[in-house]
Amino acid sequence: MIRIVLNNNSRGEIMKKIITSLSSALLIFVASLSFTTVTKSAEFFTIGTGGPTGVYFQTGNAICKMLHKSATSKDHGRKKGTAKAYRCTAPSTGGSNYNIGQIKDGEFQFGVAQSDWQFHAYNGSSKWEGKQFSNLRAVFSVHNEPFQIWARKKARVKDFKGLEGKVVNIGNPGSGQRGTMEVLMEAMGVDNSYFKSVTELTSSEQVKALCDGKIDAYGYSVGFPNGAMEQAATCAAKALPINLTGGPVQGLIDGAPYYAAATIPAGTYTGQKKDVTTFGVKATVVTSADVSEELVYLVTKAVFENFDDFRKQHPAFGPLEKKNMIADGLSAPLHPGAIKYYKEAGLM
Ligand code: GLU
Repeated sequence: MIRIVLNNNSRGEIMKKIITSLSSALLIFVASLSFTTVTKSAEFFTIGTGGPTGVYFQTGNAICKMLHKSATSKDHGRKKGTAKAYRCTAPSTGGSNYNIGQIKDGEFQFGVAQSDWQFHAYNGSSKWEGKQFSNLRAVFSVHNEPFQIWARKKARVKDFKGLEGKVVNIGNPGSGQRGTMEVLMEAMGVDNSYFKSVTELTSSEQVKALCDGKIDAYGYSVGFPNGAMEQAATCAAKALPINLTGGPVQGLIDGAPYYAAATIPAGTYTGQKKDVTTFGVKATVVTSADVSEELVYLVTKAVFENFDDFRKQHPAFGPLEKKNMIADGLSAPLHPGAIKYYKEAGLM
């Protein structure tokens, strides 16, 4: 039999090793406990946006950034001793109507959507006829989105009527762009057959197609200034004015609370010598009545309490004012979580 004799020194070494390995095991255990706590209590949610080159994508991501920034404040550990946190992602999507549909299906918790499609989804009108989403709730509105017809100069188009016989991108199904283009076409008394052909490119595809001469024009509702439109401007395209006075578009504005006259001031884009007059909508942030008061409150608070930082996230946010954001372009009722913050902040 082999006896292992331990002298005092090696006994001490082994004890040290045991203690060290025990304490590292304990550390790993404690760390894994706290990791479990964090992962279990973090709640993940999604904000639907638009194409990656649009302003909605920046809007959704700016909201997440403000929320994550405020996650270090005491708000996100409301119950003492919990590591509760909300984490959000804002993926690129097909746009307004797609986002509202995903919120309705419970896939997204928030989304950015044009004021006209917020109105129609809540009221079950236009594209939302028979699919009314009465649980749709407004959170706040963001930037203005003038509806813009961009045409390449070589196509020699001066106004909407000049699009006859041209190749026109009307936008992907599900985008607010597509929906509003169809409303404009109807107001102008035309359908797809008025054009040589139509394409259904996404907002991120259309500028390249225009610059490559694959399409002659596209209609797009988007905030300004916008990098993708500047790219169109520098490849010899321009935004066309949409005649309002006494015309059918003025009729659209007069008949609806969600449209307004809009101007893209001269000099916004390279080579733009004159103001471009058109009609427009507001970009709005929407949610569902099923989303918790706590989450909507925290999202609203994160944006409004970090307002200067939020406004810096995109040049289209420059003109934002808190009081307008809680009133303009909102036709669905405000979510109670948003109301709670607005009252607390003295905005209501
Ligand atoms: N208004 C556009 C839409 O709903 C999206 C604009 C953007 O992505 O900024 O389709």
